[in-house]
Amino acid sequence: MRARVAGVIGFPVAQSLSPRLHEFWLRELGITGSYIPLAVAREDFSRVIEGQRRAGLAGVNVTLPHKHAAYALAHSVDEIARKTGAANLLVFQPDGTNHGRNTDVDGLCASLTEEIGADRIHGGDVVVLGAGGAARAAVLALDRLGTRCIRILNRDSARAAKLATNLESIVSAELTALPWSERKAAVSVTTLLLNATSGGMAGSQPLDISLEALPASAAVYDLVYNPHETELVKQARQRGLGAANGLGMLMHQAVPAFEAFFGVKPQVSSALRAHLEAALRT
Ligand code: NAP
Repeated sequence: MRARVAGVIGFPVAQSLSPRLHEFWLRELGITGSYIPLAVAREDFSRVIEGQRRAGLAGVNVTLPHKHAAYALAHSVDEIARKTGAANLLVFQPDGTNHGRNTDVDGLCASLTEEIGADRIHGGDVVVLGAGGAARAAVLALDRLGTRCIRILNRDSARAAKLATNLESIVSAELTALPWSERKAAVSVTTLLLNATSGGMAGSQPLDISLEALPASAAVYDLVYNPHETELVKQARQRGLGAANGLGMLMHQAVPAFEAFFGVKPQVSSALRAHLEAALRT
């Protein structure tokens, strides 16, 4: 069989763990193929996609800042891409069209279920920090897992209010946007605090939040995974709370992408996690 090639498009993209992740599965499964990082500026995105498709790539993962542009140029999209208005996966079809998918919601659901526990989320009150694409995916994932009430807080409170308004008609959970200044009070009555901001990410500003008021039974999930132990996860563990970073989401969102590119469904394993963590520690 002809070697298949796929990649990840972003700007910047050098920090992406996706090539390491997909190359691990290619080796593990003995598949002849390749997965390459593609640093592409905003203005070049659509031309590069067209070139990659014509060059015979199987498809591409899409990361910041191109997820909305990927959605816009897809000829067909799945339901989650439609609900988020963003695609993190473009699969190039044999008929010359691009199929856009969003696998972040499935990836987060799988990771939350595995690492936090569905029981803790079902019927719970969750605080989501952030109002960008990751927060939107987080609200949809939490809703799918049966969260009763989701409170969204963002530094720019108007963005939080807009996100809640946009999503309220498509989720069953009760959605509220609160001012950023109320985060201490909000976390004092939550079952799960989920960080979907880029605060605390390597190279970004820290996330200004204290976990002192978080109930002892609450858990913390941080979508950020670089650094490997974020300040938020460290604070949670110091308090003895259940906590996980976003590495599980990253691994799980990649499963359908790999299957679409290379034709085999890979497994998320502790060996893969250790392989990615090793890169984050260097
Ligand atoms: P985005 O659309 O650029 O949104 C960034 C969000 O972070 C905004 O809500 C912004 O608030 C907030 N923010 C940035 N710095 C902050 C700080 N120091 N304190 C408080 N809030 C801050 O980005 P995104 O796509 O939503 O991604 C957010 C994070 O999720 C990134 O770190 C990304 O790597 C991570 N992520 C992880 C996965 C995974 O697989 N684990 C998947 C997707 C995303 P303002 O609106 O006030 O500026």
